Amino acid sequence: MYELKTINLGVNCYLIKTNSFFILIDTGFSNKRVELIKELEKAGCKYGNLKLIILTHGDTDHTDNAAYIRGRFGAKIAMHKDDVGIVETGNMQYNRKEKPDKIAFIFKILTVIFSSFIKPDKFEKFSPDILFEDGFDLSEYGFDAKIIHIPGHSKGSIGVLTNDGNFFCGDLVYSAFGKPSSVFIDNLVDYNNSIDKIKKLDIKIFYPGHGKEFLAEKFFNNKIN
Ligand SMILES: [Zn+2]
Repeated sequence: MYELKTINLGVNCYLIKTNSFFILIDTGFSNKRVELIKELEKAGCKYGNLKLIILTHGDTDHTDNAAYIRGRFGAKIAMHKDDVGIVETGNMQYNRKEKPDKIAFIFKILTVIFSSFIKPDKFEKFSPDILFEDGFDLSEYGFDAKIIHIPGHSKGSIGVLTNDGNFFCGDLVYSAFGKPSSVFIDNLVDYNNSIDKIKKLDIKIFYPGHGKEFLAEKFFNNKIN
């Protein structure tokens, strides 16, 4: 069993409380750091009990506070190896196509808004402590969940699938604009393979990086893009 708390910082951060530890999925922008820490402490996080920071992918809107939170709470940072280059350089183009296969108009607007928060030169670069492979079992952290590699938005995108069907999907799918959609696809072939892969999993609810959670059937029954 676990408890779930959504911390909405423009980007969703998800705090999982297991029997013994806390796990944080994504960390948000540094301009929301104070708010994030307040929420973590309110939930009971303190040095030593926040064991793991899972990054769904390397993009700086999801990873900007990771190094700081690691130091403050003594956590370990875990992510997929294919996005490590992004957090080690602060360059979101790392390991991506020169031109993404799909970029929605709304994403371009978002990028303009976000770029006022993200100062690439200010990004606190770091290296992760743990590299996830597809299928990594989180039960050693008291969390009955698995890591699912879902490239498409970025090469090293991962999702976290709990045994009871909650799927933290990062930016594979957004729900910030009324209905689930994928607004930035770097590699369409990878993306389609990832969608085919997760259709076979027992997912009940998606928890996206942006926007509200939604039922899996709402996504799978509709045209995705
Ligand atoms: Zn994002």
